[in-house]
Amino acid sequence: MKKILLFLLAFCLVLAASCAEAPKEYIAQITAMDTTASIKVYDAKYSSVADECAELLIKLEAELSVTLTGSRVYHLNKNGSVPVTEHLKALVSISNSVSSATNGAFNPCIYPLVKLWGFTVNGENNVPSDEAIREALIGVTTSQLSLDGNNALISNGGQVDFGGIAKGYAADLIRDNLKAAGVEAALVDLGGNIQTVGTKEDGKLWNIAVNNPNGDGYVCILSVGETAVVTSGADSRYFIGNDGNRYHHIIDPKTGYPADSGLLSVTVVCENAAIADALATACFVLGVDDSLAVLEKFDAEAVFVSKDTVSFTKGLENKFTLDKTVEGEYKTVIID
Ligand code: FAD
Ligand code: MG
Repeated sequence: MKKILLFLLAFCLVLAASCAEAPKEYIAQITAMDTTASIKVYDAKYSSVADECAELLIKLEAELSVTLTGSRVYHLNKNGSVPVTEHLKALVSISNSVSSATNGAFNPCIYPLVKLWGFTVNGENNVPSDEAIREALIGVTTSQLSLDGNNALISNGGQVDFGGIAKGYAADLIRDNLKAAGVEAALVDLGGNIQTVGTKEDGKLWNIAVNNPNGDGYVCILSVGETAVVTSGADSRYFIGNDGNRYHHIIDPKTGYPADSGLLSVTVVCENAAIADALATACFVLGVDDSLAVLEKFDAEAVFVSKDTVSFTKGLENKFTLDKTVEGEYKTVIID
């Protein structure tokens, strides 16, 4: 009898173990590029590739950071040239292509101005004098980033900052790595840079919420398939000057001051995440009207949020839902 009971107990344990559901999802989280990044795979058997992708962010940061003294970008800014890696080469080329398409609104040589306003550097943000801005502006507008064989070069003592594009570039690499490993559904969040992979298990679209830059909560939901959804906003990094005004981190390379296009945020939807990232920054500088031809050129769509209006390009018509909490707060406009 005792033997039978023991057998039944063992049988029940085996049954319980086999019935216990294997964990379905896995999230790899890491702090890199001054943001908390998460890579969520919807099948936990891909946990190790998610972890590898998180570690890739640390490697990219070590190569591309403006502040880490050993990085390639640090050496480029200090010496005017540095041997390229595959990543640096790709970033120089995508940055220059978006820069020329946006008439310089996206400028990878913006670092002297970013630093002057106290962003990225450790220390106080401060409103620089007009004279200091004029001086830094000369460096920014006259320097050129280029490739020469196996070297990246920056002319005229300029300084590169890939802060407006590198998270998008990283999202492209992560998407490719996940897909190469067989991942069919994943959500990558690199602080304002969202990348979806595949569709959710049930084949449904992803619902990506766009933050309300005017307050709490969300302004809209975008229902999308596999794509990058990247937001640049005045609300993500800013400081209040002694004059009581608010100064944010997206600099207009024509004026040297924080961009003042009337927009509070721009969200770009585009297959290529690096381009989506660079375009979100550029469109924030350009404003709605000057952004439209650029978006079309890169086959991208966008949502523009100003104080009282949310406008979005026609390609998002069936993907856009205004969040219920902001109904009445914004006028909604479809840009034809
Ligand atoms: P985006 O609009 O995508 O980018 C805005 C950022 O791009 C600005 O912060 C500035 O860096 C740059 N920029 C501003 N105007 C322009 C313009 N007209 N054209 C092109 N670029 C522009 N932050 C820290 O505080 N400390 C760090 O050590 C640090 N290290 C980083 C390392 C890496 C590799 C990366 C990618 C980011 C790092 N950051 C760091 C964050 C970075 O400085 C930016 O603030 C951040 O990437 C902004 O991303 P965003 O998506 O909010 O805005
Ligand atoms: Mg950007």
